[in-house]
Amino acid sequence: MANIAIYPGSFDPITNGHLDLVERGLKIFDHIIIAVAKNPAKKLLFDVEERLEMIRVSLAHTTRVTIDSFSGLLVDYVRSRNARVILRGLRAVTDFEYEFQMAMMNRRLEPAIETVFLMTGLRWVFLSSSILKEAAVHGGNIQGMVHEFVYQKLREKFNLT
Ligand code: ADP
Repeated sequence: MANIAIYPGSFDPITNGHLDLVERGLKIFDHIIIAVAKNPAKKLLFDVEERLEMIRVSLAHTTRVTIDSFSGLLVDYVRSRNARVILRGLRAVTDFEYEFQMAMMNRRLEPAIETVFLMTGLRWVFLSSSILKEAAVHGGNIQGMVHEFVYQKLREKFNLT
């Protein structure tokens, strides 16, 4: 069986922090499936097609990565892809409690599936999609934190010239 990890998230939008995690994951796993949650608990800026497109462009030169979307229970989706590993990123202690609860719930729902956490690169420890949007909406310069295509999409969304 190929060594596959599912990297789930809202990716609203994908940032260089997410990309850093994918790169690190590819050192351990043969293949990563980025799974965009269609119905996350959060209120989102981009619809699923837009989020998928931004991921596709951001990762255009990366091999061994598949991009997909899912709805419903994550563990059901992981099973449907014949995978056994959920990949998640940790930035700081603030991520820990939420990630811990989710990993424990997923383990309870499906003991055969393990969650693996990787630490992000130091450059990206402060970076989240929500902080990024907060900065972008007020015209902050977020170049270098996302792929150029995502930068342009954010500018369009917020009507910035
Ligand atoms: P979710 O709504 O599921 O938390 P996100 O897109 O916010 O979706 O995050 C998906 C995953 O990517 C989470 O595990 C999160 O911790 C991780 N992540 C987000 N930003 C970064 C970053 N800057 N560096 C590393 N991992 C990150």
